[in-house]
Amino acid sequence: MNSVTLTRQTEDFSVFDIDRVRADFPILQLKVNGKPLIYLDNAASCQMPQPVIDRLVRYQTTQHANINRAVHYLSEVATMEYDSARRKLQQFVNAREDREIIFTSGTTDSINLVMHGYGRKFIKTGDEIILTTLEHHSNIVPWQMLAKEKGAIIRVVPINDQGELDIDEYEKLFNERTKFVGLIHVSNALGTINPIQRMIKFAHRFSVPVLIDGAQAAPHMALDVQALDCDFYVFSAHKLCGPTGVGILYGKATLLEAMQPFKGGGDMITSVTFEETIYNTIPHKFEAGTPPIAAAIGFGAAIDYLTNIGLDHIAAYEQTLLEYATATLSEIPGLRIIGTAAEKTAVISFILDGIHPHDIGTILNQDGIAVRTGHHCAQPVMQRFKVPATSRASFAFYNRKTEIDALAAGIRTVQKVFL
Ligand code: PMP
Repeated sequence: MNSVTLTRQTEDFSVFDIDRVRADFPILQLKVNGKPLIYLDNAASCQMPQPVIDRLVRYQTTQHANINRAVHYLSEVATMEYDSARRKLQQFVNAREDREIIFTSGTTDSINLVMHGYGRKFIKTGDEIILTTLEHHSNIVPWQMLAKEKGAIIRVVPINDQGELDIDEYEKLFNERTKFVGLIHVSNALGTINPIQRMIKFAHRFSVPVLIDGAQAAPHMALDVQALDCDFYVFSAHKLCGPTGVGILYGKATLLEAMQPFKGGGDMITSVTFEETIYNTIPHKFEAGTPPIAAAIGFGAAIDYLTNIGLDHIAAYEQTLLEYATATLSEIPGLRIIGTAAEKTAVISFILDGIHPHDIGTILNQDGIAVRTGHHCAQPVMQRFKVPATSRASFAFYNRKTEIDALAAGIRTVQKVFL
């Protein structure tokens, strides 16, 4: 049962009842170093609400068996629930068909699937792959591996001082050798929301397929892969209140059908002899072996939970957090926000004059405040801004203004300790 109910009665700017939302997340009651936990590391992984935890327990206690392989009761139930989770994801991204949703182990796995399944089959020597400076390492390294293997070339879209993509430069990179585009929807390091619809449309003028890394977008905005017309869209459950170990690859059916399998094994075949193996149809062709059944079903429950609140409500509320946090942190002398794009999700990356980000994270932790410090698996972004690392506060719909005040107070304490 979902316990969140929308109300018009709000905590200042909230469109939903933030106390009731928070009550769904048991972990938010935790004390860390004797202080109430202030969890601002949502871009790395989001917390799990009770209805999702309950769903996992119900699955493990009453529904677990391996899927697709037996006629007994539990196997049929587990198969039904797993298939139902796939349909929930289909609806969530508005895919045309449920067979266009492949369960993977997460964003990284999905990108590697496309690299092996599409890239290794269709990218040839001298072909060009366009990526952007904002990419997470998981949308860089697989393509570098492919480029090395095939003798292909990677072209990179630059960013401006605000952390926004240079769209003119993007368009100039296209030529007859361009064969693939990998594009992050929302930057995990800076929060920049990229104009992907326009960029996809441009790539399609050259008949170039586009993969969107939606790991940081899917938790924060309503998605419609048909309207976007992207060829591939990938994200992980653990950033959407779901479990670790599962994610999806959305792919257009025609492309998925044309691709070669990534992993070989059980379930991805219709027949095997030592002479010849016939592969299964999609989505099974890409789901070799026992999939993350429990995690996928938990993912489905997380989708129900978020849909019940409404991604539009979440986006609107988080924007108010972003505005408040930007204004509050900007008042701190010596603090510089890295990434000031006009279109952002609720992520604030910052540096403090004369203080290493790891020291900031350590002192904030003493006050129970969880932020991430480091390069955020986006070293090209750090290189562009000539910083080795940043501290990053990333907000979710269960965060509140008072936690931003606590963060600001914590940062001032850090400055007192180090300066
Ligand atoms: N892309 C982006 C934009 C991300 O933020 C992340 C997670 N930090 C990933 C890819 C990788 O996701 P995962 O580790 O779940 O595979």
